[in-house]
Amino acid sequence: MTELYDLHCHSRASDGALSPAELVQRAQLHGVTTLALTDHDTTAGLPEAQLSATEIGIKLIPGIELSSNWQNMCFHIVGLGIDPTYTPLAEATFALQNTRMERAEKIAAKLENRGIAGSLAAVTKAAGDGMVTRTHFSDFLMSQNHVSTQQEAFDRYLAKGKIAYVPTSWAELELVVGWITGAGGVAVLAHPLRYKLKGNALKRLLNVFKDAGGQGIEVVTSRMNTDEIRQTAGYATRFDLAGSVGSDFHHADNPWVELGRLAPLPENIKPIWELLN
Ligand code: AMP
Ligand code: MN
Ligand code: MN
Ligand code: MN
Repeated sequence: MTELYDLHCHSRASDGALSPAELVQRAQLHGVTTLALTDHDTTAGLPEAQLSATEIGIKLIPGIELSSNWQNMCFHIVGLGIDPTYTPLAEATFALQNTRMERAEKIAAKLENRGIAGSLAAVTKAAGDGMVTRTHFSDFLMSQNHVSTQQEAFDRYLAKGKIAYVPTSWAELELVVGWITGAGGVAVLAHPLRYKLKGNALKRLLNVFKDAGGQGIEVVTSRMNTDEIRQTAGYATRFDLAGSVGSDFHHADNPWVELGRLAPLPENIKPIWELLN
């Protein structure tokens, strides 16, 4: 059987549309043989995902996608093969529930100031027991016809510098990498081209990330063209980082972002799964 890895995706424990079990089943349907569930700042979906993976016979890597700060910008660090019971990590994710709820209250207040009422009730209801994210706000803004797409919700309201943007102090990048490595996991810089950093800034970031113990970089994510993959592969080689592949799947509405729908990892790149036992 050919192995197919997808090492980045979201369930309803954060801003995904599927339950952890549904996600695992969908991954198998799309040919994935090893899946990492990497919800934003939470490991709450892992037990259900593991049960389902065992039942249907696909391999599940326990993961997380942690928000971090470096030079006042937000970067996402994927942790793969983590022990979710490692105390510093468990305490961090517990605290992050409050961080996210407090941020949601502030975002809701900003929307309220602009005459958009009711967002807090809607997003907390939609998030349920899971983490509240800006995606829940973009869903709300769409449902109320304030915007017609998620992109428009971010461009007009939620992205950095926009009407309802609330700066958040996430933990510093070095600390976040330490939570992951302390939990026995491998730290991977998520979607490196999405931060729109100039080459030099990205190189400085990668130096800091490496020094902190980071071992991987997402070389292949959804919707990347060959030139972009060449770029991320170049960073992997230059910084001696293993390459990861992950769709960043959230929901089934976009056929271009699908579980397992990924270009192959370039052959000269060390695969991250060789670092996972
Ligand atoms: P949060 O972690 O709560 O700040 O929410 C971040 C999530 O919002 C990301 O994981 C994406 O799923 C989504 N997101 C962030 N920026 C954008 C954007 N510009 N357009 C669409 N979705 C975005
Ligand atoms: Mn997300
Ligand atoms: Mn991300
Ligand atoms: Mn993600």
